[in-house]
Amino acid sequence: MGDCNGLALLTHMGKYQARIAGDVIAGKDARDRASRDVVTRVTFTDPQVCAVGPTGAQARERGIDVRVARFPTGEVSGAYTQGEGISGTSQILVDESRHVIIGATFTGPAMQELLHSATVAIAGRVPVETLWHAVPSFPTVSEVWLRLLEEYGL
Ligand SMILES: Cc1cc2nc3c(=O)[nH]c(=O)nc-3n(C[C@H](O)[C@H](O)[C@H](O)COP(=O)(O)OP(=O)(O)OC[C@H]3O[C@@H](n4cnc5c(N)ncnc54)[C@H](O)[C@@H]3O)c2cc1C
Repeated sequence: MGDCNGLALLTHMGKYQARIAGDVIAGKDARDRASRDVVTRVTFTDPQVCAVGPTGAQARERGIDVRVARFPTGEVSGAYTQGEGISGTSQILVDESRHVIIGATFTGPAMQELLHSATVAIAGRVPVETLWHAVPSFPTVSEVWLRLLEEYGL
């Protein structure tokens, strides 16, 4: 577990692998649920770059039929809660054969907290049609989810 296996050289991923290893040692059936793909990463720059799952190029290399939907993070009504003139782009990557999100990227201020909503959707394999009924509060940056799903074509 951790950096020595070269899978994802990040503190939280090493700790996740440790929890899975602990579950397996304790006889819990954890291996089937363990994921190598749902790797979250936050680059603490200004603006932040926050991503989870494979990139579009990585997904296509694996033969996954993906469609990308993008929306400017600062153009949702609630963006002003993070300041004026926010730049950055939000993006989701949808596996067209399964209709689930497999990757997401958010750039902008304080996006590290928004990232986990995408991680939950990916780990839970929530169909994009179901996400349409997950209503973000107004005014919040989370409204970008609605714009992304509209861009996707829901
Ligand atoms: C500058 C820097 C910044 C980082 N920032 C982040 C960040 O913001 N977020 C994030 O998620 N990750 C970050 N990382 C990565 C993160 O630190 C690692 O992914 C994480 O520490 C890996 O944990 P680990 O337990 O696998 O290995 P380590 O933390 O490297 O622990 C391995 C331990 O084994 C010990 N050891 C080595 N050889 C032996 C031996 N032969 N016998 C006994 N002990 C031995 C070492 O001394 C060490 O204590 C950063 C890394 C660096 C270098």
